[in-house]
Amino acid sequence: MKTETSQVKVTIVRVPVPRSHPRFELLMVRERMVEGLAKGLVVPEGLISHGRGECFDYLIGEKTEVFALKAIRAAAASLLLAGKPVISVNGNLAALCAHELVELSKATGALLEVNLFYRSRLREQAVASALRAAGASRILGVNASKRIPQLKGFRSLVDAKGIFEADLVLLGIEDGDRVEALRRAGKKVIVIDLNPLSRSAFKASITIIDNVVRALPKLRLEVEKLRGASKQRLHREASSYDNGKILAEALNHIRNRLGTLASNLASGRS
Ligand code: ATP
Repeated sequence: MKTETSQVKVTIVRVPVPRSHPRFELLMVRERMVEGLAKGLVVPEGLISHGRGECFDYLIGEKTEVFALKAIRAAAASLLLAGKPVISVNGNLAALCAHELVELSKATGALLEVNLFYRSRLREQAVASALRAAGASRILGVNASKRIPQLKGFRSLVDAKGIFEADLVLLGIEDGDRVEALRRAGKKVIVIDLNPLSRSAFKASITIIDNVVRALPKLRLEVEKLRGASKQRLHREASSYDNGKILAEALNHIRNRLGTLASNLASGRS
Protein backbone atom coordinates (compact mmCIF):
# COMPACT_ATOMS: atom_id res chain seq x y z
CA MET A 1 0.00 0.00 0.00
CA LYS A 2 1.41 3.39 -0.95
CA THR A 3 0.56 6.13 1.51
CA GLU A 4 2.19 9.39 2.43
CA THR A 5 2.98 9.35 6.10
CA SER A 6 4.75 11.71 8.39
CA GLN A 7 5.56 10.87 11.96
CA VAL A 8 3.85 12.88 14.69
CA LYS A 9 6.07 13.06 17.74
CA VAL A 10 3.92 13.26 20.84
CA THR A 11 5.25 14.35 24.19
CA ILE A 12 2.73 13.51 26.88
CA VAL A 13 2.83 15.83 29.85
CA ARG A 14 1.15 14.10 32.79
CA VAL A 15 -0.53 16.40 35.25
CA PRO A 16 -2.51 14.49 37.87
CA VAL A 17 -6.21 15.36 37.60
CA PRO A 18 -7.99 15.34 40.97
CA ARG A 19 -11.09 13.06 41.10
CA SER A 20 -13.00 16.05 42.41
CA HIS A 21 -12.51 17.94 39.15
CA PRO A 22 -15.98 18.58 37.68
CA ARG A 23 -14.76 17.35 34.30
CA PHE A 24 -12.76 14.39 35.59
CA GLU A 25 -14.40 11.76 33.32
CA LEU A 26 -14.06 13.92 30.22
CA LEU A 27 -10.40 14.62 30.98
CA MET A 28 -9.73 10.90 31.41
CA VAL A 29 -11.30 10.22 28.01
CA ARG A 30 -9.11 12.95 26.50
CA GLU A 31 -6.06 11.23 28.00
CA ARG A 32 -7.06 8.02 26.24
CA MET A 33 -7.22 9.91 22.96
CA VAL A 34 -3.77 11.44 23.50
CA GLU A 35 -2.36 8.02 24.43
CA GLY A 36 -4.00 6.69 21.25
CA LEU A 37 -2.17 9.36 19.28
CA ALA A 38 1.15 8.41 20.87
CA LYS A 39 0.55 4.70 20.11
CA GLY A 40 -0.26 5.42 16.46
CA LEU A 41 -3.94 4.44 16.77
CA VAL A 42 -5.32 7.96 16.43
CA VAL A 43 -4.38 10.47 13.72
CA PRO A 44 -4.35 14.22 14.46
CA GLU A 45 -7.58 14.57 12.46
CA GLY A 46 -9.13 12.11 14.93
CA LEU A 47 -8.55 14.61 17.72
CA ILE A 48 -10.52 17.18 15.74
CA SER A 49 -13.41 14.73 15.32
CA HIS A 50 -13.25 14.06 19.05
CA GLY A 51 -13.52 17.78 19.78
CA ARG A 52 -16.60 18.01 17.58
CA GLY A 53 -18.08 15.11 19.52
CA GLU A 54 -17.36 16.77 22.88
CA CYS A 55 -19.13 19.90 21.71
CA PHE A 56 -22.31 17.95 20.87
CA ASP A 57 -22.04 16.03 24.13
CA TYR A 58 -22.10 19.39 25.92
CA LEU A 59 -25.25 20.38 24.03
CA ILE A 60 -26.94 17.04 24.78
CA GLY A 61 -26.06 17.24 28.48
CA GLU A 62 -23.46 14.41 28.67
CA LYS A 63 -26.08 11.76 29.48
CA THR A 64 -27.61 8.92 27.50
CA GLU A 65 -31.04 10.28 26.62
CA VAL A 66 -34.26 8.47 25.71
CA PHE A 67 -33.70 8.90 21.96
CA ALA A 68 -30.37 7.06 22.33
CA LEU A 69 -31.94 4.28 24.42
CA LYS A 70 -34.59 3.73 21.71
CA ALA A 71 -31.85 3.46 19.09
CA ILE A 72 -29.84 1.12 21.33
CA ARG A 73 -32.89 -1.18 21.63
CA ALA A 74 -33.35 -1.27 17.83
CA ALA A 75 -29.61 -1.77 17.32
CA ALA A 76 -29.46 -4.68 19.78
CA ALA A 77 -32.43 -6.39 18.10
CA SER A 78 -30.88 -5.83 14.66
CA LEU A 79 -27.53 -7.26 15.77
CA LEU A 80 -29.26 -10.39 17.09
CA LEU A 81 -31.22 -10.78 13.84
CA ALA A 82 -28.30 -10.18 11.48
CA GLY A 83 -26.86 -13.07 9.49
CA LYS A 84 -23.40 -11.56 9.16
CA PRO A 85 -22.85 -8.56 11.44
CA VAL A 86 -19.51 -6.74 11.48
CA ILE A 87 -18.17 -4.15 13.93
CA SER A 88 -16.03 -1.63 12.11
CA VAL A 89 -13.16 -0.32 14.23
CA ASN A 90 -11.31 2.92 13.55
CA GLY A 91 -8.50 4.57 15.51
CA ASN A 92 -10.68 6.71 17.81
CA LEU A 93 -12.87 3.71 18.68
CA ALA A 94 -9.84 1.54 19.39
CA ALA A 95 -8.33 4.23 21.63
CA LEU A 96 -11.54 4.85 23.56
CA CYS A 97 -13.24 1.48 23.87
CA ALA A 98 -11.31 -1.52 22.52
CA HIS A 99 -12.46 -3.66 25.45
CA GLU A 100 -16.17 -2.79 24.98
CA LEU A 101 -15.94 -3.52 21.26
CA VAL A 102 -14.46 -6.95 21.93
CA GLU A 103 -17.17 -7.65 24.54
CA LEU A 104 -19.90 -6.63 22.08
CA SER A 105 -18.36 -8.81 19.41
CA LYS A 106 -18.39 -11.80 21.80
CA ALA A 107 -21.98 -11.10 22.86
CA THR A 108 -23.31 -10.83 19.30
CA GLY A 109 -20.97 -13.00 17.23
CA ALA A 110 -20.21 -9.89 15.12
CA LEU A 111 -16.76 -9.93 13.52
CA LEU A 112 -14.29 -7.14 14.28
CA GLU A 113 -12.79 -5.36 11.28
CA VAL A 114 -10.13 -2.66 11.27
CA ASN A 115 -11.52 0.02 8.98
CA LEU A 116 -9.55 3.24 8.64
CA PHE A 117 -10.16 6.49 6.81
CA TYR A 118 -6.44 7.35 6.98
CA ARG A 119 -5.16 3.86 6.30
CA SER A 120 -1.55 2.71 6.52
CA ARG A 121 -0.04 -0.67 7.35
CA LEU A 122 1.31 0.69 10.63
CA ARG A 123 -2.08 1.97 11.76
CA GLU A 124 -3.83 -1.25 10.73
CA GLN A 125 -1.37 -3.13 12.92
CA ALA A 126 -1.72 -0.68 15.82
CA VAL A 127 -5.54 -0.99 15.87
CA ALA A 128 -5.35 -4.79 15.50
CA SER A 129 -2.88 -4.94 18.43
CA ALA A 130 -5.17 -2.82 20.62
CA LEU A 131 -8.06 -5.20 19.88
CA ARG A 132 -5.88 -8.24 20.53
CA ALA A 133 -4.74 -6.77 23.85
CA ALA A 134 -8.42 -6.28 24.72
CA GLY A 135 -9.09 -9.99 24.16
CA ALA A 136 -9.99 -10.32 20.46
CA SER A 137 -8.85 -13.50 18.75
CA ARG A 138 -9.97 -12.88 15.16
CA ILE A 139 -9.46 -9.48 13.56
CA LEU A 140 -10.29 -8.69 9.96
CA GLY A 141 -9.34 -5.68 7.87
CA VAL A 142 -5.55 -5.97 7.89
CA ASN A 143 -4.38 -6.15 4.25
CA ALA A 144 -7.98 -5.62 3.14
CA SER A 145 -8.35 -5.99 -0.62
CA LYS A 146 -12.03 -5.54 -1.53
CA ARG A 147 -13.59 -2.15 -2.14
CA ILE A 148 -16.91 -0.55 -1.31
CA PRO A 149 -18.29 0.57 -4.67
CA GLN A 150 -18.33 4.28 -5.51
CA LEU A 151 -15.82 5.27 -2.83
CA LYS A 152 -12.38 6.39 -3.90
CA GLY A 153 -8.97 5.80 -2.28
CA PHE A 154 -7.94 3.74 0.72
CA ARG A 155 -11.10 4.55 2.66
CA SER A 156 -13.00 2.23 0.32
CA LEU A 157 -10.93 -0.83 1.32
CA VAL A 158 -12.79 -3.58 3.22
CA ASP A 159 -12.16 -7.22 4.09
CA ALA A 160 -13.56 -9.84 1.70
CA LYS A 161 -14.69 -11.95 4.66
CA GLY A 162 -15.98 -9.00 6.68
CA ILE A 163 -17.70 -5.76 5.70
CA PHE A 164 -17.68 -6.76 2.03
CA GLU A 165 -20.17 -9.54 2.63
CA ALA A 166 -21.80 -8.27 5.86
CA ASP A 167 -25.54 -7.64 6.03
CA LEU A 168 -25.11 -5.28 9.00
CA VAL A 169 -22.24 -2.96 9.91
CA LEU A 170 -21.85 -1.10 13.21
CA LEU A 171 -19.68 2.02 13.06
CA GLY A 172 -18.84 4.86 15.41
CA ILE A 173 -17.24 8.29 14.95
CA GLU A 174 -17.46 7.76 11.22
CA ASP A 175 -17.56 9.93 8.13
CA GLY A 176 -20.85 10.22 6.28
CA ASP A 177 -19.49 9.23 2.89
CA ARG A 178 -18.70 5.70 4.00
CA VAL A 179 -22.02 5.32 5.77
CA GLU A 180 -23.80 6.35 2.60
CA ALA A 181 -21.71 3.97 0.46
CA LEU A 182 -22.43 1.04 2.80
CA ARG A 183 -26.17 1.78 2.64
CA ARG A 184 -25.96 1.92 -1.16
CA ALA A 185 -24.26 -1.50 -1.03
CA GLY A 186 -27.44 -2.82 0.64
CA LYS A 187 -26.20 -3.10 4.22
CA LYS A 188 -28.01 -2.14 7.40
CA VAL A 189 -25.82 0.46 9.08
CA ILE A 190 -25.82 1.32 12.80
CA VAL A 191 -23.91 4.48 13.66
CA ILE A 192 -22.90 5.84 17.06
CA ASP A 193 -22.44 9.58 16.66
CA LEU A 194 -22.96 12.48 19.05
CA ASN A 195 -23.84 14.85 16.24
CA PRO A 196 -27.47 14.55 15.13
CA LEU A 197 -26.66 16.90 12.24
CA SER A 198 -23.86 14.79 10.75
CA ARG A 199 -24.26 13.15 7.38
CA SER A 200 -23.57 9.80 9.09
CA ALA A 201 -26.57 10.35 11.37
CA PHE A 202 -28.79 11.26 8.42
CA LYS A 203 -27.66 8.35 6.25
CA ALA A 204 -27.60 5.54 8.84
CA SER A 205 -30.36 2.97 9.28
CA ILE A 206 -30.09 3.45 13.05
CA THR A 207 -28.28 6.33 14.79
CA ILE A 208 -27.33 6.11 18.45
CA ILE A 209 -26.81 9.76 19.38
CA ASP A 210 -24.56 9.26 22.35
CA ASN A 211 -20.91 9.09 23.32
CA VAL A 212 -19.38 5.74 22.28
CA VAL A 213 -17.95 5.49 25.80
CA ARG A 214 -21.46 5.46 27.30
CA ALA A 215 -23.34 3.78 24.44
CA LEU A 216 -21.28 0.62 23.87
CA PRO A 217 -21.69 -0.91 27.37
CA LYS A 218 -25.44 -0.11 27.22
CA LEU A 219 -25.71 -1.74 23.81
CA ARG A 220 -24.11 -4.92 25.12
CA LEU A 221 -26.47 -5.00 28.11
CA GLU A 222 -29.44 -4.57 25.75
CA VAL A 223 -28.18 -7.48 23.64
CA GLU A 224 -28.08 -9.62 26.80
CA LYS A 225 -31.62 -8.53 27.72
CA LEU A 226 -33.02 -9.34 24.27
CA ARG A 227 -31.05 -12.54 23.76
CA GLY A 228 -33.91 -14.85 24.76
CA ALA A 229 -36.58 -12.87 22.88
CA SER A 230 -38.53 -14.42 20.01
CA LYS A 231 -37.64 -13.56 16.39
CA GLN A 232 -41.04 -11.93 16.13
CA ARG A 233 -40.26 -9.59 19.06
CA LEU A 234 -36.81 -8.78 17.65
CA HIS A 235 -38.32 -7.96 14.25
CA ARG A 236 -40.88 -5.73 15.98
CA GLU A 237 -38.15 -3.86 17.92
CA ALA A 238 -36.03 -3.41 14.80
CA SER A 239 -38.79 -2.44 12.38
CA SER A 240 -40.60 0.01 14.65
CA TYR A 241 -37.48 2.21 14.70
CA ASP A 242 -37.65 5.42 12.66
CA ASN A 243 -34.29 7.18 12.20
CA GLY A 244 -35.81 10.52 11.15
CA LYS A 245 -38.00 10.61 14.27
CA ILE A 246 -35.04 9.83 16.52
CA LEU A 247 -32.90 12.59 14.99
CA ALA A 248 -35.82 14.98 15.43
CA GLU A 249 -36.13 13.93 19.09
CA ALA A 250 -32.44 14.64 19.61
CA LEU A 251 -32.64 18.06 17.98
CA ASN A 252 -35.77 18.95 19.99
CA HIS A 253 -33.99 17.84 23.16
CA ILE A 254 -31.06 20.16 22.42
CA ARG A 255 -33.41 23.04 21.50
CA ASN A 256 -35.49 22.62 24.67
CA ARG A 257 -32.44 22.25 26.86
CA LEU A 258 -30.84 25.39 25.45
CA GLY A 259 -34.16 27.23 25.71
CA THR A 260 -34.46 26.37 29.42
CA LEU A 261 -30.85 27.33 30.09
CA ALA A 262 -31.29 30.63 28.27
CA SER A 263 -34.50 31.51 30.18
CA ASN A 264 -32.87 30.60 33.49
CA LEU A 265 -29.89 32.80 32.70
CA ALA A 266 -32.09 35.67 31.54
CA SER A 267 -34.16 35.51 34.73
CA GLY A 268 -31.09 35.23 36.96
CA ARG A 269 -32.02 31.69 38.12
CA SER A 270 -28.78 30.05 37.00
P1 ATP B 1 -20.19 13.53 8.51
O1 ATP B 1 -19.34 13.25 7.30
O2 ATP B 1 -20.99 12.37 8.95
O3 ATP B 1 -21.00 14.80 8.46
P2 ATP B 1 -18.02 14.57 10.09
O4 ATP B 1 -17.47 15.32 8.96
O5 ATP B 1 -18.38 15.31 11.33
O6 ATP B 1 -19.23 13.67 9.76
P3 ATP B 1 -15.82 13.27 11.29
O7 ATP B 1 -15.03 14.50 11.40
O8 ATP B 1 -15.16 12.05 10.82
O9 ATP B 1 -17.07 13.39 10.39
O10 ATP B 1 -16.45 13.07 12.76
C1 ATP B 1 -17.07 11.95 13.13
C2 ATP B 1 -18.27 12.24 14.02
O11 ATP B 1 -18.07 11.55 15.26
C3 ATP B 1 -18.61 13.68 14.40
O12 ATP B 1 -19.95 13.91 14.04
C4 ATP B 1 -18.47 13.74 15.92
O13 ATP B 1 -19.50 14.51 16.49
C5 ATP B 1 -18.61 12.30 16.32
N1 ATP B 1 -17.87 11.91 17.54
C6 ATP B 1 -16.64 12.29 17.94
N2 ATP B 1 -16.30 11.72 19.10
C7 ATP B 1 -17.33 10.94 19.47
C8 ATP B 1 -17.58 10.08 20.56
N3 ATP B 1 -16.70 9.93 21.55
N4 ATP B 1 -18.76 9.41 20.59
C9 ATP B 1 -19.66 9.56 19.60
N5 ATP B 1 -19.50 10.37 18.53
C10 ATP B 1 -18.35 11.06 18.45
